[in-house]
Amino acid sequence: SLPLTGKVAFIQGGSRGIGAAIAIRLAADGAAVALSYAQSAAAAERVVQAIEAAGGRALAIRADSADERAVRQAIGATVEAFGRLDILVNSAGVLAVAPIEQFSIEDLDRTLAVNVRSVVIASQEAARHMGAGGRIITIGSTNAERMPFAGGAVYAMSKAAIVGLTKGLARDLGARGITVNNVQPGPVDTDMNPAEGAFAESLTQLIAVGRYGHVDEVASFVAYLASPQAGYITGASLLVDGGFAA
Ligand code: NDP
Repeated sequence: SLPLTGKVAFIQGGSRGIGAAIAIRLAADGAAVALSYAQSAAAAERVVQAIEAAGGRALAIRADSADERAVRQAIGATVEAFGRLDILVNSAGVLAVAPIEQFSIEDLDRTLAVNVRSVVIASQEAARHMGAGGRIITIGSTNAERMPFAGGAVYAMSKAAIVGLTKGLARDLGARGITVNNVQPGPVDTDMNPAEGAFAESLTQLIAVGRYGHVDEVASFVAYLASPQAGYITGASLLVDGGFAA
């Protein structure tokens, strides 16, 4: 059987980019997958169709990560649909870039709500449903370790918060056999960070391997962390960044 046969995963922010690739990969590894989104209903449905076309089970749920009740309900709906919850992946994220003199408080609040607060809420709710072997995996960023351009202070702060949260949650949940980890990608070609354009060219010069990453190169590592093989990894922040922070 496949490494995740019989497991159920909830992907917070799975309609596009890295989260969509993770949803497809965990389903290919045998998990039933629920994925949330805020806006992109059509894209979320395409991910579900791709999984079902490959013989997997999937469900898309609209749930704005900034809305506590919506996040809790989405996790409840996942358990209702698939009968259990084994894997939580927090991938929903927003990036607002502006010099600090102009950075709006709306963008500050939105960044903290989606990139940090939703991770606490989803982890709390998911942990209530998980048993031994449970997995919580958050997509942080290499920018927690290295922030080499101006305007990204609040984003870097939000991703640095995940480093500490991951350590603490690992302590809270370790005795129950649940691991908690933080995967920190470098530049990965998505809508958030397209590999084409002037900004991408300057970023690429900072990457040791000299290229953007592909979403599948993050998803494959998440699949490993989600698998029973990774049971001795917890509280860790792990770079998948092509050497960006090196
Ligand atoms: P994209 O912008 O391509 O996709 C973002 C995904 O998150 C979409 O599925 C989106 O849903 C969902 N999302 C955003 N806001 C919310 C919300 N309020 N509620 C629910 N879902 C939401 O981003 P990436 O795939 O590039 O990024 C995924 C994660 O990886 C983020 O946490 C990001 O910070 C991190 N990351 C990305 C890097 C990169 O270079 N791409 C590098 C390092 C980290 P919808 O379609 O409905 O908007």
